[in-house]
Amino acid sequence: MKHFSKNDQGFTCIVCGAQVEPLGYSSRDHCPKCLHSLHIDINPGDRLNTCLGILKPISITTNSKKGYIINYRCDKCGKLHNNRAATDDKQSLIFALMNGTYDETLKKMLH
Ligand SMILES: [Zn+2]
Ligand SMILES: [Zn+2]
Repeated sequence: MKHFSKNDQGFTCIVCGAQVEPLGYSSRDHCPKCLHSLHIDINPGDRLNTCLGILKPISITTNSKKGYIINYRCDKCGKLHNNRAATDDKQSLIFALMNGTYDETLKKMLH
């Protein structure tokens, strides 16, 4: 059984440098500007993972109940991870992930 701990905190994104505000309605688990996340949870919100690698978004799946799900692979340990997309996520990057142009879209955005 998965335990969900609410742990909604702001952070500074180590990939794009954005100051990320707490989400408010759920745990903020990824950067809304570049969609990257950190491998800090074992179960959502628990912050118990000692890996601390960068979770890189690799694809999007849609769930009729939950909406967009961002699929991640950890840069450090290679584990796969999912996060639900937040309402303020950058839509153009969600679409870029869907059509396979995420890397070049992000590059353009950061430079
Ligand atoms: Zn970011
Ligand atoms: Zn990891």
